Amino acid sequence: MNRPSVVDRQDRVAGAVVGSAVGDALGAPFEFGPAGVYAARFPDGVGTMCGGGGWDPGEATDDTQMAVLVAESLPERDGLDLPDMFGRFRRWARDGPKDIGLQTEDVLTSGDPWDLAAALHFQVNGRAAGNGSLMRAAAPAVYFARAGRVATMDAGRRIAALTHGDRAAWEGTAVLHELIRVALDGDHPLAAVPGALDRVHEDHRERWATVLAPGWHPDAATEFNGAVWPCLGTALWALRTTRTYENALAAAVDVGGDTDTVAAVTGGLAGAVYGFEAIPSRWTEPLHVPLPGYGDRVLRTPDLLALARRLDSDPCGAIPTNIRTP
Ligand SMILES: [Mg+2]
Repeated sequence: MNRPSVVDRQDRVAGAVVGSAVGDALGAPFEFGPAGVYAARFPDGVGTMCGGGGWDPGEATDDTQMAVLVAESLPERDGLDLPDMFGRFRRWARDGPKDIGLQTEDVLTSGDPWDLAAALHFQVNGRAAGNGSLMRAAAPAVYFARAGRVATMDAGRRIAALTHGDRAAWEGTAVLHELIRVALDGDHPLAAVPGALDRVHEDHRERWATVLAPGWHPDAATEFNGAVWPCLGTALWALRTTRTYENALAAAVDVGGDTDTVAAVTGGLAGAVYGFEAIPSRWTEPLHVPLPGYGDRVLRTPDLLALARRLDSDPCGAIPTNIRTP
C-alpha cells in the first residue's frame, strides 16, 4: 500500500464517508457470488457500477442507509444518543428496506427496548457476530476521531451493541473505528493494528489478532465473510495488498460472499487513506442512497460530502456517561 502524501484531513474525511458508500454500491450486485466474478466481468481490474441482483447501478444498500442514520443522529443529537439512533434504525426497518441483515432485522423488529433488544437476541440465538456493525462505522469513526483513541473505540462498541449482542462484534467495530481515526490523522492504519489490538477485550484479542495479522489471507477464513472476523480481515488484506483506492475495492469485491459489506468496510478504510480525490467519478456520479422510512429521500455524493463535513466539524459531543452499554 502506498500512502499519498498530498491528502489533507478534509479529503480523508470525505474519502472515508463516500468511500464506504461507494464500496457498498460497487459490491451489491455481486453479493453471495463466488470469488473471481468481479475480475472476470471487469478484466481491466477496476470496473464500473454495473447494477444487478435487484440493485440499480450505483444504488447503495442497507449498509450505507444505516450509516446515514448514524451520521445524522450524531450532530443532530449533539453526540452519542443511543436510544435516538436505535429509534432511527427501527423506523427504517419498519419501512421494509430492500435488504437488511437477518440479525439486525430480528433485533430491530422484536419490539424490545433499545438497551435490551440485541442482548436478548444473543441470549436466545447464541450467535450475533455478523458484520453488520462494521458496515456503518466510517461515519461515527470520523465524528469521534478528534476525541482520541479511547472515545473512538468506546463509541464503536456502543453503536455496535445496539444491534449485535456478541462482544466480538463490539471489539471488531472498535478496532475499525481506531484504524480509521489513525488514517484520518495521516498515519498508516496497518501500523496501528497492534496498538488497537492491545485495547481489545482480552477474551477476544487472540481471534482478532489472527485475522488482522500481516500474513492472513481471505482463504484462511474459518467462517463466511458475513461474520465480523473475516469481513474486517479481508478489508485489511485488500488494503495491504493493493496500492490504490480502486484496486483495494476491486480486490475486496472479487473475494465474493458478502461483497457489499466487505467492500463498504474496505472503502471506508481505503477512502480515509487515499482521500476522496482518489475515488473515480465513474463511481461517485451514479452513487445514490435511498432512505426507507424517511419519505422519498435519496442522498447523492454531494449530500454525503456535506454530511462528512458536518461530522468532522461538529464539536464531537461528549459520550454521555449516563447511558450504559447494552
Ligand atoms: Mg447490504
